[in-house]
This record gives sequence, structure tokens and C-alpha cells, in this order.
Amino acid sequence: MSTIFGKIIRREIPADIVYEDDEVLAFKDINPVAPVHILVIPKREIVSIGTMEPTDAAVVGRCLAVCRQVAEDAGLSDFRVVTNSGAGAGQSVFHLHFHVVGGRGLSWPPG
Ligand code: 5GP
Repeated sequence: MSTIFGKIIRREIPADIVYEDDEVLAFKDINPVAPVHILVIPKREIVSIGTMEPTDAAVVGRCLAVCRQVAEDAGLSDFRVVTNSGAGAGQSVFHLHFHVVGGRGLSWPPG
């Protein structure tokens, strides 16, 4: 299933890319909810954490390492990493992505 993020991976639509390697891409969210809001995605089309296979674990781990890297590159010491799994949890793009959010105070629990 192709999504808008598949189009970003294939460079069919533009994005403000901040990190890329052979398996992972990170780019700025088009509708940021905080001064820093970066999306980190696997290039492989995994839908969500809720549908990932055990064989996806390595690339998901790489995504988390990239979350840490882009947060550091953005100058963040404190930040939040969020992934919404399923429409009822707020997922709107069905290609796995981790939101890296920071640069302001963040309350808990989320809505
Ligand atoms: P979700 O709601 O699935 O957890 O998050 C999807 C995120 O993708 C949203 O924060 C939304 O702003 C972002 N987004 C949707 N379409 C685009 C796009 O075309 N470009 C970028 N950079 N972000 C997008």
C-alpha cells in the first residue's frame, strides 16, 4: 500500500529531509505541533507498530536510533517520541512513523 510517505521516499513530492540512510528517512512534519517536529520512517512499507512483523524489529530499532540522532542534531535535550498505531489512536498516514517532538514544554498524559 502506497502512502504520501511512499511518495516522499521516492521523491515524487518534496519534503524537508534532515536525515537519510539506506533504510531510514527523517523529515520535518508539514504541520508541526512544536518548534521541533520531525518524522522518522522506515523506507520499507511497514504500516504501524500494531502490524509490524518480528523481522521488522531491526529497522524499527534503527528508526529509534535516528530519533535520538535528529533530536540531538536539533539541539534537544528533552523530547518526546510518539507513534500512533491505528486510526483510533490518531494515525492518519498508514506508513509507520515516529514523531520526534520538542522545543517546548510537553504535558502528560497526551489526549
Ligand atoms: P499521524 O497522524 O499518522 O500520527 O501523523 C501523520 C503526520 O504526517 C502528521 O503530523 C502530518 O502533519 C504529517 N504529514 C501528512 N502529510 C504530510 C506531508 O505530505 N509532508 C509532511 N512533511 N508531513 C506530512
